[in-house]
Amino acid sequence: MDANPFDLTGKVAIVTGANTGIGQGVAVALAEAGADIALVARSDASETVGLVEKAGRRAITIEADLSTIEPCGRIVDEAISALGGLDILVNNAGIIRRNDAIDFTEDDWDAVVDTNLKTLFFLSQAAGRHMVDNGGGSIINIASMLTFQGGIRVASYTASKSGVGGLTKLLANEWAAKGITVNAIAPGYIATNNTAALQADETRNRQILERIPAGRWGEPGDLGGAAVFLASDAARYVQGHVLAVDGGWLAR
Ligand code: NAP
Repeated sequence: MDANPFDLTGKVAIVTGANTGIGQGVAVALAEAGADIALVARSDASETVGLVEKAGRRAITIEADLSTIEPCGRIVDEAISALGGLDILVNNAGIIRRNDAIDFTEDDWDAVVDTNLKTLFFLSQAAGRHMVDNGGGSIINIASMLTFQGGIRVASYTASKSGVGGLTKLLANEWAAKGITVNAIAPGYIATNNTAALQADETRNRQILERIPAGRWGEPGDLGGAAVFLASDAARYVQGHVLAVDGGWLAR
């Protein structure tokens, strides 16, 4: 193993939903470990570009709407042609819709499952095709506590994130022998746009904090170490694992 098996110098990573939140935190951590980053975003990602460049790495932005699988092939092609290869894919972009199961709509089902699960699979397929032909790589899926738990009023989110856990194992089974590691990170409660409503609800915020052994919301940067590890040679024999980074939430 290298002197520093966590070093990502010379690697190229695609990070989806990298303009904000967990995607931004992961993109910056990978850059600080040495990787150049292709940021996939449908909104202005200039803040993350600046942070990656501040870390001394190259950043490009690939504009894409991930609610359909249409851009998947283009994303991989653009990253490779601009940055010279593809070693790491972080499937981070995701949405949530809340409603009682009894009233849940088809639109709230399809929007969440299409973005969180279908696009994740087909972008992994596009990246995997390149990685299989080019000696391997690492795929990291952003899962959830609801990969393990049922949740409430988030039917399509729970279905999608439980599916992400299954696909992580399936892809690891198919691609481990081809030099590709496929793993997931399950964030606990992280302060981002996705959880702004929960943070603003005084009662829910108190209930959440009381249950987190670490006693605080996570920050996007808290996911960085796990992402660097799973992207690196240090994790070369780690396969199909869903790593909780949750301040102890699941340990309760
Ligand atoms: P966030 O701040 O809302 O970020 C979500 C990201 O996904 C944004 O960059 C968003 O872009 C992007 N995105 C959503 N739909 C997209 C689409 N159709 N096309 C392109 N980009 C799209 O939330 P976050 O908390 O960082 O979430 C990141 C991931 O972590 C998600 O998969 C989420 O399910 C997961 N997660 C979060 C938590 C948490 O506590 N925060 C816990 C467990 C899992 P825009 O900014 O343009 O909307």
